[in-house]
Amino acid sequence: MKRGATVSELHRFVFEGLPVRGALVRLTDAWQEILQRRQLSATGAWPQPVRALLGEMTAAGALMQANIKFDGALILQIFGDGPVKLAVAEVQADLRLRATATVEGEVAAGARLSGLVNVGNKGRCAITLDPRTRAPGRQPYQGVVPLFGDRREKIEALSAVLEHYMLQSEQLDTKLVLAADDRVAAGLLIQRMPAEGGSARPDEERIGLDEDYNRIATLAASLTREELLTLDADTVLRRLFWQERLQRFAPRTGADGPRFACTCSSERVAAMIRGLGQDEAAGIIAERGEIEVGCEFCGRQYRFDAVDAAQLFAAPGVPLPRPGSSAVH
Ligand SMILES: [Zn+2]
Repeated sequence: MKRGATVSELHRFVFEGLPVRGALVRLTDAWQEILQRRQLSATGAWPQPVRALLGEMTAAGALMQANIKFDGALILQIFGDGPVKLAVAEVQADLRLRATATVEGEVAAGARLSGLVNVGNKGRCAITLDPRTRAPGRQPYQGVVPLFGDRREKIEALSAVLEHYMLQSEQLDTKLVLAADDRVAAGLLIQRMPAEGGSARPDEERIGLDEDYNRIATLAASLTREELLTLDADTVLRRLFWQERLQRFAPRTGADGPRFACTCSSERVAAMIRGLGQDEAAGIIAERGEIEVGCEFCGRQYRFDAVDAAQLFAAPGVPLPRPGSSAVH
């Protein structure tokens, strides 16, 4: 069996003459770096089911980011009511990405989505589009989807949650196949394209009715987890769509491709400490000698002692963090 490349890559394509487009992502080095950083941190590696979920989220985030024209961060979050309290995958427009999860308590071996984040029916998934340049006070766009199907059954596949979101938010049929292990986080997205201007029927009236899309989505759904994780992109696309006419775009890889990068900085941490207020900050320093803030995404530790803190509160005119800033938890 042919092994995939070791550098993360993202491929986009359209089906010639048909209203269907697609993307395939394979996160290898980028995903391994996220896992390694966590493993080396004080908290240690996430349990296996959490790694699998987070890998799928990261692959999905890259696919969704590549599929929209948007200059900013796409943030996929699951707010859980089970052992996973929060899982986040964030992908910038240039495909820099990072991901993290907060786990409290025991994760059962083989736990599925509901066992991780939807034990008491309160789990939900949020997709946020945060523009790179945003006017002060403007909130980023956020869509929230429950982890339930139409008949209130718990959804056990992240792909189904996100397909539901894209149908709701964009009125577009979408098929997603996702898989992750400790080496690769990968995904395939197939989507019916929005109607051209002047089309007789609006997108919401075409849901489920496009025969070309339905055929291609069925082919995509036949991709197994094992194939997605182990085969390179060319092989996957050839096996699935050998009877279709695919027009492929130049793959994005290396410095232009999906890669791990954290957006945390000492300026952002400083702004956060300033947000606590001088009394609170002084209290922490009196108690512990310093304020220590660790980045949940990359593991970097930021330390501010009494002198640093005094400087922080003495320097005027430095803005407070933007609301909703997710650089540091
Ligand atoms: Zn960081």
